[in-house]
Amino acid sequence: MGTAAIIVAAGRGVRLGGPVPKQYQTLGGEMVLTRTLRAALACSELDAVLVAIHPDAPPLYAEAVAPLTDSRLLPPVHGGAERSDTVRLALEALEPRAPQVVLVHDAARPFAGPELYATLAAHARAGESAIAAEPVTDALWREADGHADSPAPRAGLWRAQTPQAFPFAALLAAHRVSLGAGGPPALDDAEVFRRAGGRVRLIPGPPENFKITTAADLARAERLIKAEEGRMNDIRTGHGFDVHRFCPGDRVTLCGVAVPHERGLEGHSDADVGLHALADALYGAIGEGDIGQHFPPSDPQWKGAESHVFLSHAGQRVAARGGRIANLDVTLLCERPKIGLHAAAMKARIGAILGLPEDRISIKATTMERMGFIGREEGMGALATATVALPAAGEAAP
Ligand code: MG
Repeated sequence: MGTAAIIVAAGRGVRLGGPVPKQYQTLGGEMVLTRTLRAALACSELDAVLVAIHPDAPPLYAEAVAPLTDSRLLPPVHGGAERSDTVRLALEALEPRAPQVVLVHDAARPFAGPELYATLAAHARAGESAIAAEPVTDALWREADGHADSPAPRAGLWRAQTPQAFPFAALLAAHRVSLGAGGPPALDDAEVFRRAGGRVRLIPGPPENFKITTAADLARAERLIKAEEGRMNDIRTGHGFDVHRFCPGDRVTLCGVAVPHERGLEGHSDADVGLHALADALYGAIGEGDIGQHFPPSDPQWKGAESHVFLSHAGQRVAARGGRIANLDVTLLCERPKIGLHAAAMKARIGAILGLPEDRISIKATTMERMGFIGREEGMGALATATVALPAAGEAAP
């Protein structure tokens, strides 16, 4: 399957001394752009996320992405004068990666969920361009002198949203043609694509996927988030435990980090006790079994597997239940190697795998005071606890 990239257009409205543009305003304790990117990164079908920013915005952008450690987030590019210039410049920047499909999204639409991204990407993979849009249901009036003058037919009218998804090469070609053609700037990528002769399917997007443009929109977004958080009151805790035996080798993989050691760890996968205990804690919290059930050791395809696959699957199961990880706590049990030097890298790695801020992750270690099988250095172990917030029973997350 070819790769899918997403361009998040955050290029507008930054003026030094002017009001902070909506994509950098605070919403529910973090920047709008941070929420938008977190939602995109929650979609595992997206392989690369590129933000196009205003040349004056780097300090704001740095603040927005500080809580995000996902390696799919690329360094930002600078946008242009018009939105279509911004998107074209971002497409040119992506060209060397040659993604199969590209989605374009507004930075100020933080409520597009992973399912919407996945649905649109699937259309583009099948060769069909598609945009999220909402059918118009209100009566429409043409105004004259502040009065309703004549009704306008609403049948067949849709309001365009983003994301908008296209085969990558076709959208880049359409933008290049549009650049040479002159004429008024296109309002969105669907227009650019249609001007170049393409067809664009309309996919119903949810009403929550509105664009934050005014102060009233920001207040509506705050209310949506408060309501969402109020529903997340079904708090679950899970624990996990794992051990692996030492074997000949020169490193051990612990919490996703290769740690030099005079031996390795024996196991069907990469024998990462930390990530195994953590994945089991997450499965435990949502009552969905353990790693062995989702990735049977009898299945040869998981032999030598890197354990981030297991952890990210457990994280996706939490997300699929509409849940959120509150915190993770891992204790590694070994006499050696020393863990302290590597704990920061382990937190960063787990944060990147799950898209979770590092202040919600804890890594610590203890020796066994030379007692028992761990004390004799026959192997090592790990304990983990996970706390997860799910929507209250009977209330699905929006
Ligand atoms: Mg294991």
